[in-house]
Amino acid sequence: MSFQVFGLPVSRGVAIGRAVLVASSRVDVAHYFIDVGRIEEEVGRLRVARDAVAMELSLLKRDLPTEAPAELSALLDVHLMLLHDESLTGATKQWIHDRHYNAEWALSAQLEVLARQFDEMEDDYLRERKADLEQVVERLLRALARDPETPLAAVAATGARDFAGEDPLVLVANDIAPADMLQFKGSVFTGFITDVGGRTSHTAIVARSMDIPAVVGTREASRIIRQDDWLIIDGDNGIVIVNPSPIVLEEYRFRQRQAGLERERLSRLRHTPAVTLDGEKVELLANIELPGDAAGALEAGAVGVGLFRSEFLFMNRNGELPDEEEQFEAYRAAVETMQGLPVTIRTVDIGADKPLERMSVNELRHEHALNPALGLRAIRWSLSEPGMFRQQLRAILRASAFGKVRLLIPMIAHLNEVHATLEAIARAKQQLDEAGKPYVDVEVGAMIEVPAAALMLPAFLRYFDFVSIGTNDLIQYTLAIDRADESVAHLYDSWHPAVLSLISTTIEQARRAGKHVSVCGEMAGDPAFTEVLLGFGLRSFSMHPAQIASIKQRVLRADVRKCVARAEAALEADEPQQLAMSEAGVPSA
Ligand code: PEP
Ligand code: MG
Repeated sequence: MSFQVFGLPVSRGVAIGRAVLVASSRVDVAHYFIDVGRIEEEVGRLRVARDAVAMELSLLKRDLPTEAPAELSALLDVHLMLLHDESLTGATKQWIHDRHYNAEWALSAQLEVLARQFDEMEDDYLRERKADLEQVVERLLRALARDPETPLAAVAATGARDFAGEDPLVLVANDIAPADMLQFKGSVFTGFITDVGGRTSHTAIVARSMDIPAVVGTREASRIIRQDDWLIIDGDNGIVIVNPSPIVLEEYRFRQRQAGLERERLSRLRHTPAVTLDGEKVELLANIELPGDAAGALEAGAVGVGLFRSEFLFMNRNGELPDEEEQFEAYRAAVETMQGLPVTIRTVDIGADKPLERMSVNELRHEHALNPALGLRAIRWSLSEPGMFRQQLRAILRASAFGKVRLLIPMIAHLNEVHATLEAIARAKQQLDEAGKPYVDVEVGAMIEVPAAALMLPAFLRYFDFVSIGTNDLIQYTLAIDRADESVAHLYDSWHPAVLSLISTTIEQARRAGKHVSVCGEMAGDPAFTEVLLGFGLRSFSMHPAQIASIKQRVLRADVRKCVARAEAALEADEPQQLAMSEAGVPSA
């Protein structure tokens, strides 16, 4: 039966493929295809893991203290029985044979199938056995991870995309953490669907940076979509079509081809300078998450990196944080790739929807924070970990000896934070001087993403060389809307007059003070805002590399005088979005 699921469009384009349902807790399990010749070997890995778990459970049972309740021993028997049940191991082998999934993926796919069957059971006792099954699978996954034969690819969670004869795959999950999303770069999945999340949640941002169609905030997709259902993701409109009819499928295949052609056409603008019709030069920069993204930024025609979200270097590391040397190498790699073009490195923005796995006292506090978006995040976290902060500052400063580096401070709101930050930078420089390590005097900038910073900008401008407006958070904090919460996503309004007013005054005041100002939030890559932002006086936009071409096209067609009139009208309107749509006929993404 064909039906539709609605959500928030977060990453443009159309993806067509079969559903792979993954429980949120299993998203970080390795997903890759194995060669036909390796099938038996993979089944062997599963067998070894099963034998190891059987041994583990038997030993646990043998060593139970005599005073242990009898239920414990019975429970271990249930686990042993589940372990040897054909519906688990037999069916998992089938996934390996038929689909060429690696053992971990096959196991979690089968867990999904069985978990649903348990959910539908009438009998309470049987339904509760789902938790036992999950524990058994957990043990099997741990045993597979310990397996010395585990190929490297299993750790990287990626694999060959073009397994012959395999249908394209779309990942469906309740939630995907930004760190896990990052692991899917270049993976087997051609699209993503999640139940939760907002348009500017970091999961959505990473999906956009990967230029993969995605729909988030569907609320129930992972519950009503079945493993292997055919899906169309309409990433422009936030629609998922489940089991489409042949006519609908053909229509979307056509749209996919058209989008491909349009992309090809736009890519020809790569080396064209971004200049408006009336001769205003505009700087189009890239947002990146990892040093490896810098090459894509250059290729897309970016004239620098406007935002390097350095916190992604701190993720997926089992709690081990990168030391100064490792960070320095990462920053240097990005800087060298950009061949003299500026690279704006933002100090870690840990917290809110990007928690660390590490459990220091601070993180423990964070874990229990009632509202992490308002908690120990970004510069607040850095200043609470002075040793770690100086380590990062030294690494960034050292990278400046290899190209043009700018240092950007996230979420700063208080002047005492400004003073503490500048002192930390001075101290880091002193340490480098003492160690005889070279660096250049880099420009230091502030993210303007808390309304307090926008409202007291002149004071900030006295201390910083440049500012960059983080519209994602500026909207979140101005409107008191959690950007990652789909239940209030309809209130997350980039066109809100209060938001536009803060952005326009920030641009105007920075320009008047002769300080460089950029926008690096998602608004910069949204063509619906290009003209209004140009009209506010913005000449520097930073976005995902994949968005550069379409924004450049907007810039090339823009006349700044008309943009100013539009921007003024938008500032005076009660409903600026209605005005923008009626003038341009472009809905905001
Ligand atoms: C922003 O808040 O707009 C921004 C660019 O930073 P992030 O999305 O990483 O919070
Ligand atoms: Mg931000």
